Amino acid sequence: HPLTMALADETTRVVSQFDFSDVQVNKHVQEFLRQMDEGLEKDGTSISQIPTYVTGVPNGTEKGLYLAVDLGGTNFRVCSITLNGDTTFNLTYNKVAIPKPLMVAETARELFAFLAKQIELFLREHHADHFESHVRRRNTSSTPQGYRDEHIFRLGFTFSFPVKQLGINKGKLIRWTKGFDIPDAVGKDVCALLQDEIDRLRLPVKVAALVNDTVGTLMARSYTSTGKHRSVLGGIFGTGTNGAYIEKTANIKKPIEGEYDVSTGEMVVNTEWGSFDNQLNVLPLTPWDKALDEQSINPGFQMFEKRVSGMFLGEILRLAVLDMMKNEATSLFKDLNSSTNDWGTTTNISPQSGMFKAWGLDSAIMSVAASDNSPELSTLRQELENTLQVYTPSLEDAQAFKAVSAAVARRAARLSAVAIGAVAIKSGKLSDPREDVIDVGVDGSLVEHYPFFRDMIYEALSAVDGIGPEGAKKIRIGIAKDGSGVGAALIALVAQGME
Ligand code: ADP
Repeated sequence: HPLTMALADETTRVVSQFDFSDVQVNKHVQEFLRQMDEGLEKDGTSISQIPTYVTGVPNGTEKGLYLAVDLGGTNFRVCSITLNGDTTFNLTYNKVAIPKPLMVAETARELFAFLAKQIELFLREHHADHFESHVRRRNTSSTPQGYRDEHIFRLGFTFSFPVKQLGINKGKLIRWTKGFDIPDAVGKDVCALLQDEIDRLRLPVKVAALVNDTVGTLMARSYTSTGKHRSVLGGIFGTGTNGAYIEKTANIKKPIEGEYDVSTGEMVVNTEWGSFDNQLNVLPLTPWDKALDEQSINPGFQMFEKRVSGMFLGEILRLAVLDMMKNEATSLFKDLNSSTNDWGTTTNISPQSGMFKAWGLDSAIMSVAASDNSPELSTLRQELENTLQVYTPSLEDAQAFKAVSAAVARRAARLSAVAIGAVAIKSGKLSDPREDVIDVGVDGSLVEHYPFFRDMIYEALSAVDGIGPEGAKKIRIGIAKDGSGVGAALIALVAQGME
C-alpha cells in the first residue's frame, strides 16, 4: 500500500534523527568529564558541581531514630525513620497539602510556623512517649531549653527550591519556584527559619541538615544496597534529571565557603548535570529539540535535561509526530473516512487533544508504547484513544507513534549512560581490582517504569572506552527509593557526627 510505504519511510527518517551512535556516546563522555572538572574549578560553568558539605556516605550499618521533612511542591511530608543498622529501615509519615495562601504569604514566618506545627502534630501522633516525656522534662527543667542533647531528634530538611548552601544545615533561598512566592524569605537561611518556629513551639528537634533530593538518593541507596558497598552516585530520572556523587575534597578546587568535616577527605557534590553542555558543544540537536527549547520558559538552559527527563520526552515526541502529520503523503492520524469529520478536520485526533497543546503529551504513554509488543498494538491504541483522544487509531498510526517514541526514549537512555559512565570513570574504581562493584542508585519514573531503560543504559555503557563490557558489568545500577525520607535521615546522621 503506497500510503503505508510513505509513512514507513517518514518514520524511518524521523527515527534516524534520534540515532545516538557509540562514537557520539564516547565523545559526550569526554565532554562530560571535561565539564565536570571545569565545574570543580570555578563558578558559572555548565555543570555547577555544588559542594554539599556532606562528607561521607553510609554503608548500611548506621543506626538511630531521625526525622525528615520534605517541602518541594504541593505537599509537606513529615516522617520519622528508624535505621536498623542492617541496611533496613522503618519509616512512618504524614503528608499534608500546603494551604494555597501560605504559598504566597506576607511573611516567611506564616509558612514556617505551619511547617513546625505539622512536626509537632506528627510527634504527638507517632512519638507520643518521647514527646510527652520531653514536655515533662521541659516543664520541670531549670535550663531554658529543658532537654539534654540525647533527647533531641535530628531532622533532615529536603527543600527542593534553589538555595545557596553555606553549610550542612545552612542555605539561603535564592528564589521561589513552583507557585510559591514569599519575597520576605528570599535571601534568608531556610534552616534557621524552620528552627526558629520549632523553637517557638519548644519542640525537641534540631534542623541538622539541608538536603538536596539527589544527595538523598545517593545516601538512601548507599545505606540500603547490599554487600556494604558504599554507592558512588545517586541519579534522578523523573520530571527532571540530576546527579550527586562522591568526590575527593582535594579535587574541589573552587573555594568551599562554609565549615565541613575535613577528616574523610571526601564530599558529596551535587552536579546539577541537567545543564550539561548548555553551550551545545556536543549535544544532539534535532529540529524538535530546537523547537522545544525555543518554546520553553528557559531557552538555552537545562539542555541535557531537555533531552533526558520525563517532563521533556513527551514534548519532543509530540513535536516530531505533529511534523509527520503535516506531511500529507504519510496519512498519519488521518481520518480516512471523510475529507472533513465532525470536528471539521481531516485528522482523527480531537482538536482538544493534548497532541495540539504544548506539553500536552505526558511521557507516561511512552512506557505504554514500549511495553505493547502485541501484533495489533491494542493496548497502545486504547491508550492513544484514552489519553490523547485519537479516534480509532489505525495499526499504522500506532506503529509510527511507537517507533518514534522508542527512538526518543532510547536516545534519552544513552544520554543517561553518558552521565553515569562519566561518573563511573571519574570514581577511579573501574581500573581498581579491589573494587568489584561500582554501585549507582537511581530514582524517578523514567528508570522505574520505562521498559528496559536500564538495559539501554548498560548497552551504551559497554560501548564507552575505558568501561567496555567488563566495566559495565561492574557498574550496578539499582533503584533507590525515598531519598527525601531515609536519605534525609542519613544526612542528619552524618551531620550529627560533625557536631
Ligand atoms: P518527580 O521527578 O517529580 O519526583 P517522577 O519520578 O514520578 O516524579 O517523574 C514524573 C515524570 O515522569 C513526569 O514528567 C511524567 O510525565 C513522567 N512519567 C510518569 N510515569 C511515567 C512512565 N510510566 N514512563 C515514562 N515517564 C513517566
